[in-house]
Amino acid sequence: HIPVICIDGPTASGKGTVAAAVAQRLGYRFLDSGAMYRITALAALRAGLAIDADHEARIATLAQTLPVRFEGGKVWLGSDDVTEAIRTEEAGMNASRVSALPAVRTALVDLQHSFQRLPGLVADGRDMGTVIFPEAPLKVYLTASAACRAERRYKQLISKGFSASIEDLRADLEARDARDSSRSVAPLKPAQDALVLDNSDLTIEQAVEQVLAWWQE
Ligand code: C5P
Repeated sequence: HIPVICIDGPTASGKGTVAAAVAQRLGYRFLDSGAMYRITALAALRAGLAIDADHEARIATLAQTLPVRFEGGKVWLGSDDVTEAIRTEEAGMNASRVSALPAVRTALVDLQHSFQRLPGLVADGRDMGTVIFPEAPLKVYLTASAACRAERRYKQLISKGFSASIEDLRADLEARDARDSSRSVAPLKPAQDALVLDNSDLTIEQAVEQVLAWWQE
């Protein structure tokens, strides 16, 4: 069977960076499940659907047939390059709202499972270990303090030429975590058998080394 490493955790905890680096080191495929919720939210808004329970069924239908492709570091929705559009704070907030709709989560399960390929997969998200790959032999819950996460997100945005305020970012990520943790389906929480890694005081390389060390155990 195909080995899967799950890396879950709150917003801007460094999951994406660490998961991609671990995948690269092991030659494994990488699944950015958050991107799927971001793309679904974008597709819904482009189709003129408000992101709320009234439109749950229609958004779920959209999600099930999402014409998404991950290619050469770019993300495509049909023939549109949405790599940048899905990375804004607003897109993250919309993703969080769309991800609280149970039918949308169900609609995206097969797409996420389809990323399993030999020699292995590193999956980044909120419910990789709890819902999508419950049999995975290694589940990491990667976290960091809110102050630290806000600062990292700030630096990331500034380096891409966006303007931002650390205070606003921190308020936004705490609001997003609160929604992600309190929703009825697949709430954000460590899997029972997850290893918790607080990387507030670690470099990316140190976090990557810790995950690889656990994997080799
Ligand atoms: O990880 P990222 O910030 O791209 O995720 C965007 C949003 O998508 C999260 O705030 C969360 O609400 C949702 N999400 C989820 N389950 C996942 C991945 C992301 O609910 N596995």
